[in-house]
Amino acid sequence: MPDEEVLEDGVLNPVKPEIQDPLLRALLADEPAATPAPADTPQEQPQALPTEADEVDCVVIGLGAGGAPLLARLAMAGLRVVALEAGPWHNPEKDFATDERAQDFLFWNDERLSAGQDPLAMGRNNSGTGVGGSTLHYTAYTPRPLPADLHLKRDFGRGEDWPVGYDELEPYYEELERFLGISGPTPYPWGPPRRTGYPLAPLPLNGAAQLMVRGAAKLGIATSPAANAALSARYYQEGVGWREACTNRGFCQAGCSNGAKASMDVTFIPLAVKHGADIRPNSFVTEIERDAQGRITGVVYTQNGEQQRQRCRHLFLCAGSVETPRLLLLNELALTSGQVGRNLMAHPGVQVWGTFEEAVRPYKGIPGGLISQDTHRPKDADFAGGYLLQSIGVMPVTFAGQVARGRKLWGQPLRDYMRNYNHVAGINILGDCLPHADNFLELAEEKDARGLPKPRLHFTAQENEQRMNAHAEKIMRAIWTAAGATDIWAFGRYAHVIGTARMGLSGDDAVVDANGRAFDVPNLYISDNSTFPSALSVNPALTIMALSLRTADKFLAQQQRRDA
Ligand SMILES: Cc1cc2nc3c(=O)[nH]c(=O)nc-3n(C[C@H](O)[C@H](O)[C@H](O)COP(=O)(O)OP(=O)(O)OC[C@H]3O[C@@H](n4cnc5c(N)ncnc54)[C@H](O)[C@@H]3O)c2cc1C
Ligand code: SF4
Repeated sequence: MPDEEVLEDGVLNPVKPEIQDPLLRALLADEPAATPAPADTPQEQPQALPTEADEVDCVVIGLGAGGAPLLARLAMAGLRVVALEAGPWHNPEKDFATDERAQDFLFWNDERLSAGQDPLAMGRNNSGTGVGGSTLHYTAYTPRPLPADLHLKRDFGRGEDWPVGYDELEPYYEELERFLGISGPTPYPWGPPRRTGYPLAPLPLNGAAQLMVRGAAKLGIATSPAANAALSARYYQEGVGWREACTNRGFCQAGCSNGAKASMDVTFIPLAVKHGADIRPNSFVTEIERDAQGRITGVVYTQNGEQQRQRCRHLFLCAGSVETPRLLLLNELALTSGQVGRNLMAHPGVQVWGTFEEAVRPYKGIPGGLISQDTHRPKDADFAGGYLLQSIGVMPVTFAGQVARGRKLWGQPLRDYMRNYNHVAGINILGDCLPHADNFLELAEEKDARGLPKPRLHFTAQENEQRMNAHAEKIMRAIWTAAGATDIWAFGRYAHVIGTARMGLSGDDAVVDANGRAFDVPNLYISDNSTFPSALSVNPALTIMALSLRTADKFLAQQQRRDA
């Protein structure tokens, strides 16, 4: 049982040093290994199939950062909820290897078509699948946006303002940081003063992060250990039990085998299950059915090769920023605004690499370690918006792919460069991106294995993104030079697909309102990275989760008013 006093404080440090590896501890002591999800996941138990007549309160499609938090909230309110997830339900302890190639199954690997001058890399660069969605492989950087991020149009006359203010999101950030057990610095160096600190102390810095501290300090650029949703100490969580601390294994993007990283499968999903949510993995939704008034009545999905139907009163579409607009377009749903698939944005994410005499070992230690937000709205900027700097931890095969693309090396020259892998360190940025008419998602004529049109994503970085990248590249090169790096080079890339079903104040130019409810369809809600009106200058997952909880609360309040 948890210590009640410690729980009230929310500061959950281990009371005594102990063996952190659950398997080793289980071997040495008479205690079962404590990876929480498998004990709670009925993945190996046969699920009762729904009958055609069975109508549930809510169906949730997709169990990533957008779907899992609201699923738990709706289940806790006593609603009958069914979650349909295209991917499998993994057992981290058995399924997650310290081997990046073996872990390719965590990514959405169905072919997606990329077009434009800067075609977006998909697969491991964008989106995942499985119960937990992309959080199974995310790096777990969890910064809050700075309040001005929500007001690009107000501040620059370009881009969009959010229809939700920072003050409305703040209680959700506080709740999430506490619930997930985020490790981070208190006080946080940037942004307005906070009402609450992080529940856990920061994680130790990996090699790249330590070198970045050294270089940035010489240039007067402030850095800080980042907020990261990996546990720096054991943490007790409702619906889950004790989660073990991070062992610094460094393979967060290959899936965390001991439950230290707050992916949805070890946090919100067990909570949802505890409160009666019916989770159906390997369930790929293709059709959304409506009645004559246009209200959604149910969905059709394929599970283990069999077509199923689930009737529902409300639908929460949380399939991510590619599959959500794809499903809307396939089903000709919520299209009145003309904005489904439009406003596609991607974070400028240029990386700068350098070689050091010291051994860096980029695979080792927590990869999401260090942040600087000194570059948020830089004074000498010739672009709208801003960006942050983050240190990188990278696994060898991923890095070799980047070297091949970025330095155009292949064969022996690539092998020669890769001999230095243990001595390279990288920094990257994430920054605002402006929506542009040339950047959108559409259905292609080409069909996938299910006979459905593949999504095609058009992306061309515009002048604003190019100027931001140039500004950032100069600063990152200077940091690495000051830190003593040689052979410095830049790899231009764009990360995260954002904004393809955006929220706004009116159905004239937005798909959903500030609560995530579709303007066109009264019982449809959308919750994932597609609803962001602007990209924000930070990693998206924490804000996706905050919006997810807010959407659930607004929905539940509306249901209560209706029933009163
Ligand atoms: C390598 C990498 C590292 C990252 N690191 C970070 C980080 O450090 N911090 C951060 O904030 N963000 C990070 N991100 C981004 C972050 O993981 C995503 O932006 C976020 O998790 C997206 O959440 P989502 O709910 O919008 O979509 P997803 O997590 O993609 O969830 C959508 C879910 O819907 C399911 N689905 C799709 N279509 C269907 C269908 N038809 N039927 C049923 N189910 C369906 C999918 O299988 C998936 O599980 C990273 C991304 C990558 C690729
Ligand atoms: S480094 Fe990442 S994968 Fe390894 S234990 Fe820590 S959170 Fe989990």
